[in-house]
Order: sequence, then C-alpha cells, then structure tokens
Amino acid sequence: MAKIGEPAWRGRQLAEAIYCQRLTDIAAITVLAKPLRRRLVEAGWKVGRPAIAQVFRSADGTERYLIDCQTVDAQTVETVWMPEGDGGEAGDGSEEEEEKTWDRATICVSSQVGCAVACRFCLTARLGLQRNLTTGEIAGQVVAVLDRHGVEVGRDRVNLVFMGMGEPFLNYDNFMAAVRLLVNEVGLSPRRMTVSTAGVVPGIERFAQEPAEVRPKLAISLNAPNDSIRSEVMPINRKWPIEAVVDAVRAVRLRPRERITFEYVLLGGVTDRPEHAREVARLVRRTGLPVKVNLIAWNPGPGIEYATPEADAVENFRRALAEEGIAVYLRKPRGRDIYAACGQLKRTVEG
Ligand code: SF4
Repeated sequence: MAKIGEPAWRGRQLAEAIYCQRLTDIAAITVLAKPLRRRLVEAGWKVGRPAIAQVFRSADGTERYLIDCQTVDAQTVETVWMPEGDGGEAGDGSEEEEEKTWDRATICVSSQVGCAVACRFCLTARLGLQRNLTTGEIAGQVVAVLDRHGVEVGRDRVNLVFMGMGEPFLNYDNFMAAVRLLVNEVGLSPRRMTVSTAGVVPGIERFAQEPAEVRPKLAISLNAPNDSIRSEVMPINRKWPIEAVVDAVRAVRLRPRERITFEYVLLGGVTDRPEHAREVARLVRRTGLPVKVNLIAWNPGPGIEYATPEADAVENFRRALAEEGIAVYLRKPRGRDIYAACGQLKRTVEG
C-alpha cells in the first residue's frame, strides 16, 4: 500500500481482510474504497492463497496436500491435516480436556521447499534445498487448509506444527513473520503452535528471545542418544553437537504448564535400545526445564535403509524412559498408506 502511495494503515486493513476475513478477491474487500479496489486490479494485484493442487486421503482421516505456491517457479510443498490431533500433542496434561471431534485437528506446515539439513531418515533431504518459502506461502498453507475444512478460528481447536518440509530456523525471519501473521491476523494462539528444529543453535538462541505473545512451543528433533549415533543419523550434529543444542534450550522462558518437547524417531536396531533411552533421559534432564519425549516408530520410506523398530523394542524404550521419570508419549504413525512422512509425497508423486 505504501508503495502505491496509500497510507500504511491501509496495509493493516488489507491484512485483516486476507487473513482474518479470509477473502480471496480484491472486489470483496469492501473496507477499501471502490476506486482503490479498481486501481489495484488494473495494476495486476491479486489476493489469494496457495492452491491445494492434489489431495491424498488416508484411511485414518489424515489428508496430505501438495500445495502449489502459485509462483513463477511452480514449486510445490506438502501440508498435512490430521483430524483429532496427533496423539503426541494431546492428552499430555499440558492442555485442558478436549472432546474428540473433527474440529480438533493438527496441521503440519512446511517452511522450505526441500531441505538442506540432510537427515538420513528423511526423504525431503534428498530434494536438497530448493528455496525458502516466503512469509505469505508459510501462512497461506495454513489458511488454505482452514478454508478447505471450514475451520472457524476461535471455535474449532486447531494445532499447528511446523514440522513439514524444511528447517524453520534456517528460514527464521519468514517463519517468525508467518507466525506473527497467524497470531495477530488469523487469530490462532501461539500456545497451539509447535516449531520443530533439527538443532540449529543460533536459531534456538534467537527464538528464546521472542516475546511470549507470538512464540510457539519448541520441539527438538533429537532422534539419537549420543553424538556418535546422532552425527550419523543427522549430520547437522557435527556442526551443533547434541549438548550444545540441549544447552541452548535452557534460555527459553516457558509459560506456565509449557514443556519442551523432544521428538525421537525410533530406528530399528539403531536408536531403539533401552540403554539409549537412559542416555536420552540424561540429556533431556540437562535442560533443567519441564520436558516431554514423543516417540515415533520410524515410517518406512522408499529407498531409505532404516528398519521399523519391533513393537517390543518400542515398548521397552518407552518404559525405560518412564522409569527414569521422563514424561513420554508414543505417537501414532499417521497416514502410513499415503506416504505421510516428511517429504515422501513430493518425492513419490514428482519422482
Ligand atoms: S527431517 Fe526435517 S530437518 Fe531433517 S532433512 Fe528432513 S525436513 Fe530437513
């Protein structure tokens, strides 16, 4: 608005119309005078959001979308809708009782096209980093999915997890600007958002300084019990070793009843032994903060050599952590029949 000679506050009106009223046509933005709307259209401006290009529906209700960013480079990203929450984000005592209806759902959001982090268990890693998503593309994925399911913000319970394609803390400014849009304009609560990082220490340090009104909850994608295994599974560990990551987390000033989440993908025969669980307990205690551990049995992906852990190994691991006094939750793998692990859809559909 400022660029076309309008007062800057018109920008706020526009943001309100796009993200709060969720209008997708300039003609419908009646808060702007008709001549101004005409001028915008004639100058080629459009409002809208990324389009859901393909939908894959799983037997368990999970929907996975390939979202077309509708930009010149024709890039697509993946966004996932998981109705009735995701098991790990619910029922852990950190949130009030909630009923199990369709409107309790989790949306998994991407922050980059591809990823530079190169985790060995991840298909997105094979794409390499194509580019960062813009602020509008990150927030737009959420709004596109809210529209598809007719979600009424304020009435329906929706959680966001920034755990899709990409490492949010390597696209920090756009990621946080999208969070501010989603909080201030769309009306979602940052207490219902969780961002997951593979362990970008400078990103964690910046994040710890964000004001509580716009700071999502933090999850660390841990996935291994010590530096030698973690450096194999997640080469980013060579740059920021496991203890440096855990120590950076200490600076986060948690809100009442908030906890730091550690995500741990159990790779059969690699990271799933009870002694690994005891190492994990030692590590997460090092934060000195309230924590919980989410265990996820690895989702098999085409061309990745890891094995799904045995059910016994998963249970023994869970028990070993619980015996150490750590809050531990087993997350149900969602959407296995539609390749609903990070990056699997884009790779499978687009080759
Ligand atoms: S798991 Fe996440 S951080 Fe690691 S390569 Fe995949 S998208 Fe990147």
